[in-house]
This record gives sequence, C-alpha cells and structure tokens, in this order.
Amino acid sequence: MFIAATQNQHKLKEIKEILIPLGMDVISVHEAGLGNVEIVEDGDTFEENSMKKAETIMKLSGRNAIADDSGLSVDDLGGQPGVYSARFSGENATDKDNNKKLLTMMEGIKNRSAKFVSVISLCFTDGRKISVRGECMGKIGYEEKGNNGFGYDPLFIVDGYDKTFGELESDVKNKISHRANALKKLREELEKMR
Ligand code: IMP
Repeated sequence: MFIAATQNQHKLKEIKEILIPLGMDVISVHEAGLGNVEIVEDGDTFEENSMKKAETIMKLSGRNAIADDSGLSVDDLGGQPGVYSARFSGENATDKDNNKKLLTMMEGIKNRSAKFVSVISLCFTDGRKISVRGECMGKIGYEEKGNNGFGYDPLFIVDGYDKTFGELESDVKNKISHRANALKKLREELEKMR
C-alpha cells in the first residue's frame, strides 16, 4: 500500500487506474488522514520535486509513499513550461489560463514538437528509493480540442494519433501517456526488487 503524495485528483485517478490492476493499492493523503499538506516544489528538475514530495509524505505518514512530478516541455520554447507547468501563468493559474498563455507564446512558431514528462518516485519506510521517468511525444495544436483529461491535454496531439489527449478516452491515454510509461518502468523496478 502506498500513499499518493498528490492533491491532484486527475493524477491520483490515473495512478490508481494503472497500479491497482498490478496489485498495488494506492490511497490519497486525505484517505490516509493527513489533511492538506503543502509541499514547496522548489527543485529545478522533475526528479528533485518528485522525490521531495514522496519523501515528505513518507516522513509525515510513516508509510510508503508514491509521487508524480510531471509537466509539458515544448522544444521551441526551450523546454518551457517544464517544472513550472502547473503555475505557468501564475500561482493560482487554472488549466484554461495556462493553455491560453501557451497558445499565445506559440503564435508564429511552426515547430510544434513537445513532450509530456512524468517522474514517479517511491520512498519506502526502510530507506529504499526509486525514481523512474516516462515520456510521451507529440505536438501542440492551434486550439483546444476535447474535454477529457486535465491540464494541457486539449492542446497536446499525441504522436501516432490525430487527436489530443483531451479527445482520447482515458483508457487509451492511460496506455500511452508519460505517466503510463513511467509506471511501466516502475513495475519493472519493483519486479527486480522481489
Ligand atoms: P505538478 O503537480 O507540479 O507535477 O504539475 C503537473 C502539471 O503539469 C499539471 O498541473 C498540468 O498542468 C501538467 N500535466 C502533467 N501531466 C499532465 C497530463 O497528463 N495532462 C495534461 N497536463 C499535465
């Protein structure tokens, strides 16, 4: 059983949908009785932020913890929004605000290549730590399409599909996404530990 170090219900849902069929139970910080935990994401990399979240929750709860730090990296914007994806247009930014800012910054840019990155970290009470990175390649569209998913999903046209993550059903996204790819690697790491 792992406690998921996230307040993001969309992420939690995706992590559960992928890990529960693998026999790993995941509960939220709320379900673990921890209430609201503010973790300052001050690392320069997804790896630093992800492990910081998992470690903080493990220490607070005394139980194994799992965290995801993720974001969008756009080639012609030098990797932005990157680790600032959630707060791209300000501290209390909504997904709509962030998507609008991204579209504005991409005006006139022809190379729309981008990738989603997810770094998943596990922090065990016995001191073991694991971090894995998953990526998913695609392109930034010219307008929002689809109502599924969250964040930048309506703008991200995933390679191999002529659709945004916002248009794809969640079971399709959960097979090919950056988070799914990270969780597949995590499964391999966990199997090696057995
Ligand atoms: P974090 O909570 O600091 O890891 O921020 C992650 C942010 O990256 C989210 O708030 C979204 O803006 C973006 N993001 C991460 N994963 C996804 C995804 O699967 N779809 C859309 N946006 C995502």
